[in-house]
Amino acid sequence: MQDESIFDELNEECGVFAIVGHPDAAQFTYYGLHALQHRGQESAGIVATDGKQFSFHRGMGLVTEVFNQENIKKFKGHVAIGHVRYSTAGGTGLANAQPLVFNYAKGELAIASNGNLVNAEQLRKELEETGSIFQTTTDTEVFAHLIARSNAPSIEEAVKEALNRVVGAYALLILTNNQLIVATDPHQLRPLSLGMLSDAYIFSSETCAFDLIGAEMVRDIQPGELLVIDQDGLRTSYYSKPKERAICSFEYVYFARPDSDIGGVNVHAARKRMGRQLAVEAPVEADVVTGVPDSSTSAAIGFAEATGIPYELGLIKNRYVGRTFIQPSQELREQGVKMKLSAVRGVVEGKRVVMVDDSIVRGTTSRRIVGLLKEAGATEVHVRISSPPVTHSCFYGIDTPERQQLIASTRSVEEIRQEIGADSLAFISAEGMVEAIGSSHIGKNQGHCLACFTGDYPTKIKGGMVLEGKR
Ligand code: SF4
Repeated sequence: MQDESIFDELNEECGVFAIVGHPDAAQFTYYGLHALQHRGQESAGIVATDGKQFSFHRGMGLVTEVFNQENIKKFKGHVAIGHVRYSTAGGTGLANAQPLVFNYAKGELAIASNGNLVNAEQLRKELEETGSIFQTTTDTEVFAHLIARSNAPSIEEAVKEALNRVVGAYALLILTNNQLIVATDPHQLRPLSLGMLSDAYIFSSETCAFDLIGAEMVRDIQPGELLVIDQDGLRTSYYSKPKERAICSFEYVYFARPDSDIGGVNVHAARKRMGRQLAVEAPVEADVVTGVPDSSTSAAIGFAEATGIPYELGLIKNRYVGRTFIQPSQELREQGVKMKLSAVRGVVEGKRVVMVDDSIVRGTTSRRIVGLLKEAGATEVHVRISSPPVTHSCFYGIDTPERQQLIASTRSVEEIRQEIGADSLAFISAEGMVEAIGSSHIGKNQGHCLACFTGDYPTKIKGGMVLEGKR
């Protein structure tokens, strides 16, 4: 999350939402974006169509800051798409806020995407050399130029052509005045689900948005699937041969909301199983278990259940720290952690504490939290991490530091333990995490991407935007 970016976490980059066939399409998209707010806080946008023309609004900030009843009322039409964005890749600024809107020879086009293209830079260069003028620095605009320049007989065919040229991860929405086209990448790296609200079709990065608006979950969009919704209804096809499914495992570890289901698995339940698995793999004698709120709470409960050590609220999150109040300087980072998290003295004083966290990225936050617990009187702090060591950068839409800044890429577990000042440290194994996610999918890693833990990327990286290991 943006206000937590100084807290040394990986950050999701976007969330997308769409609705087709509802008189309050924009209002429901607003609600949907609300539910997806954790996926991006830098900007938000909605584009709606009444079949003749677009109405749209985009702005910087939270959904509640960008939209109000006044501007929501101005949207017209039964179809809308929306987007929330967190990003450092591609740069910040209103120009990069999505959905992007274009006018081209065949009419209006709006595009919203969650993900990252590995070959965006290469494609962009090719397009620019042959006359394309880019308005933004986002990968998403590459789709627009590929579609606009296509000679294919229909937009649907143009989209298919474009998708066969890009490499990477995406959950993609493309809106014209008479069609919504929806696609996921051939590995299904980024989540996208289909739901129904009466007769209206809904698409969302996470199913928690369905619950908020009272929609029924229908299914996940499959690898390489392309859906078109127009006056003839919904039809589906595959623009490419589906490749090995590789849903981002970090969605389960940290990004997704616990009340979402991804790949048929509830995120809270998966996190609890990760905690239980961690207890089996790395048990420890202690008096209390606590989780780093909020994303580690489920895993901490699982760890406590499996060990019989009581779960306690040893760390409290202050939810009202203003986003702009925390500045990314070293001194203020330290202060920021204190403002954002407090150790509960009454719970941890004189106790041996198991502190469960979802991941260690650079190690700086873990060191500070261990420090908070010790300052509050914990006699021992045993750190248990519900994901394996993050050793590689993500090229699929997750904002990761350069590889050499990932503490686990250069240090052993014992060296990290010393650096963060813990009495013991253990990470779940990659196999244990996959088993804990509990997918029934048969295939490599049960259909999950583990690249940031293993370096085994599901797509080609070489020849793309960046070379493995250089990031
Ligand atoms: S590299 Fe990691 S963060 Fe990126 S998609 Fe794969 S599992 Fe998710």
